[in-house]
Amino acid sequence: MKRLVISALALAVTMAVAAADTSTFNPAHLSADVKTLSSDAFEGRGPATAGETKTLDFLIAQYKAAGLQPGGDLKDGKRGWTQAVPLLRSEIEGTPTFKVTINGKAESWKQGEQIAARAALNGAQSVNIANAPLVFVGYGVKAPERNWDDFKGVDLHGKIAVVLINDPDYETGVGDFGGKAMTYYGRWTYKYEEAARQGAAGILIVHESGPASYGWDTVKNSNTNAMFDVVRAKPGDVHPALEAWIQRDVAVDLFKRAGLDFEAQKKLAQTREFKPVVLNGESFSAHFNVNRKTITSYNVVARVPGSKRPDETVIYSAHWDHLGVGQPDASGDRIYHGAVDNGTGTAAVLELARVFAKGPKPERSVVFLNFTAEEKGLLGSEYYAANPLYPLSKTVGVINMDALDPYGPTRNFTISGSAKLDLLDDLIATAKRWNVTYSADPKPEAGHFFRSDHFSFAKRGVPAISFQSGDDWINGGLAAGKAYEDLYVAKHYHQPSDKWESNWPFTGMAHDLQILYALGNELANSEQWPNWAKDSEFRAARDATATDRK
Ligand SMILES: [Zn+2]
Repeated sequence: MKRLVISALALAVTMAVAAADTSTFNPAHLSADVKTLSSDAFEGRGPATAGETKTLDFLIAQYKAAGLQPGGDLKDGKRGWTQAVPLLRSEIEGTPTFKVTINGKAESWKQGEQIAARAALNGAQSVNIANAPLVFVGYGVKAPERNWDDFKGVDLHGKIAVVLINDPDYETGVGDFGGKAMTYYGRWTYKYEEAARQGAAGILIVHESGPASYGWDTVKNSNTNAMFDVVRAKPGDVHPALEAWIQRDVAVDLFKRAGLDFEAQKKLAQTREFKPVVLNGESFSAHFNVNRKTITSYNVVARVPGSKRPDETVIYSAHWDHLGVGQPDASGDRIYHGAVDNGTGTAAVLELARVFAKGPKPERSVVFLNFTAEEKGLLGSEYYAANPLYPLSKTVGVINMDALDPYGPTRNFTISGSAKLDLLDDLIATAKRWNVTYSADPKPEAGHFFRSDHFSFAKRGVPAISFQSGDDWINGGLAAGKAYEDLYVAKHYHQPSDKWESNWPFTGMAHDLQILYALGNELANSEQWPNWAKDSEFRAARDATATDRK
């Protein structure tokens, strides 16, 4: 049935596809936009800085010039170009104190060494946990659709949950959680949320480099500075007072002194029969104050209204923000320019908007979204998805772009992480017309599906993916593509040196944008509602709103 729909679609839109030849997507536009966005004047595009004002002004001017309509917040019955995103900023004041008491003897832990604790996001101005019992709850997973519950009714109020990172079948490679691939149950964000739902005073995630997919430095650096969240009515519903990681050696020692073997307990946690275990004779204390303030940042929203079904929406998106100004690198540069991350995605959304504005009007509306605060935890997209300007139940799909490759064309493409959904099947079929093939994420255990803005939509059931450039270069093959990726990760990713280069051809992006244009344009001219695969954890949320699409 799917195939029939695709071929009917392909016939119906042959003209539109023919209109979008390579010249329609101009590599020179992409290069110029990335150059501007990553220039010193934009100061690394930190949310709520002068760099944000510059970025917003630039994007809005470009959309206006291209003939787009504003698609943002309603004011006096008229839409503006932005959606205000109120953010909570929370920072630990002074030096936090942490203490474990084992058989009556107290030992101190140091922030960044044994433990990495976040500034509280539960709305409290201080964290005061005194001698709370420690309970090991395995992977901290409650998955009714998989008949899995690590908590087994244990009462965690006033207690600290100790949990493992990733999901229960990561180590065995076979099981109900996608084998080696990470399900959302493996992500630390899920573990914090579930601990809050269980009423725990706090959570300590045991860090292990394999299942986490990064080392302790990453944990330390990303948890001990200022924390951000969207402003929530009841922040305690998703954040326990204490959210922290501990080093593996520290955990092994805690288990040992409670008469438990860490590896043996982990083995038990990989089974349904696992039951929570109290770390006997041990307790944990934490004391610190947090400095909280609310800041406002903005998503940018442009729109081409649909000619027949304007209330149905196809979304193209990319985050505009980057890390702003920070610690200098060896050359003394303090501006985190973010040319690839995510000047490229931002430029791609702009260029798609220009082409849609010029082309034939689609039957459904097409919305171009530039999110803020992705680098602070997918917050701009989270805010939009929690406060959608256009109903999520009638949002056909989201095509997100983050950190595209500015080099030449490739024989393949990929997406962030792995997932089973019609939107990906449609993308694969569309790319075939350009002889571009799909390569699955080579490291699904890293959970990349949960680390980009499309996920804010996916978890609410909206079909959503983040497109990623391929690595099999037409000039140079896999060797050249992989060499570029390795160099980018080692030398430029989240470093000041992620800078625009005059020799970047941008011809690969221009080529791929034809495919993404065709995919979105065909969906915008169809009556199709792509869904998730039957066994996807996001299918139920989509099906719950099926009547809206009748
Ligand atoms: Zn990014």
